[in-house]
Amino acid sequence: MSRLLPMRVRDASLPERVTIYEVGPRDGLQNEGALVPTPVKAEFVERLVAAGLPIVEVTSFVHPRWVPQLADAADLVGLLELGGPVPFPVLVPNERGLERALAAGCRHVAVFASATEAFARLNLNSTLDAQYAMFAPVVTRARDAGADARAYLSMCFGDPTEGPVPIAQVVAAGTRLLDLGASQLSLGDTIGVGTAAHVTALLDAFGTAGVGVDRIAMHFHDTYGQALANTLAALRAGVTTFDASAGGLGGCPYAKSATGNLATEDLVWMLDGLGIEHGVDLDALVRTSTWMAAHLGRPSPSAVVRALTTGT
Ligand code: MG
Repeated sequence: MSRLLPMRVRDASLPERVTIYEVGPRDGLQNEGALVPTPVKAEFVERLVAAGLPIVEVTSFVHPRWVPQLADAADLVGLLELGGPVPFPVLVPNERGLERALAAGCRHVAVFASATEAFARLNLNSTLDAQYAMFAPVVTRARDAGADARAYLSMCFGDPTEGPVPIAQVVAAGTRLLDLGASQLSLGDTIGVGTAAHVTALLDAFGTAGVGVDRIAMHFHDTYGQALANTLAALRAGVTTFDASAGGLGGCPYAKSATGNLATEDLVWMLDGLGIEHGVDLDALVRTSTWMAAHLGRPSPSAVVRALTTGT
């Protein structure tokens, strides 16, 4: 493939290298309507690894009734090479999910918490305060089993019911998750309403509370076209882990838009222009997303995938 490349212009104030935490197989496919056969998912994961993604979240051990798209979690994990150089974290909603994940051989798990009362009730059937009691034994038991537990915090910028979420409320929730023993805190803009200075203010507030950017990942959604601007703000603050979904898989179920997760290709393109190392082969990634889009029966919403596959 011969194609245009962004000119690399290095900004010395930005990190030299970042880790792209790929969420397409889990967060992406969870929010796609189509059911993807397990062997196709396994091939998807293998192709992402071959494209250079250093970590790939592969599925969720949620009850199959809640998320039928991911009901094959144990079967999928059984097809993957666990214990290799690329970690394959899995989401675990509760202790039962953790037991299933550990029994399947997983040693990297993630829990999914809420920064708001409304979303804790809607998504977790809990309350903002009660969720910590739910996650505490999950994180503790994961660590006792030699696993690490990442914590997602959702609705960090806005909530569809509550509106803008106070920064102090987000910092309080994130700090409590880290205090439970989570290895990393992924701050999610679940409905994509965050803008750049909001990102800066939130990261500043975490810093003031003693939580450095080395413990934080950012999980941006491109629902309103702000994901890359927000990523740049987070890079300026020193964040070096970014969640992204190959091809932009995963519409946002909480906002009426085709666009949810930041596409990994869009992120890679910007990082290439900024001269920031990431280890991902963009062409191999685009081929993978195009292949998966064919399985899903809809084109990728990623601007970079579109630009690179329509012969511009
Ligand atoms: Mg997401």
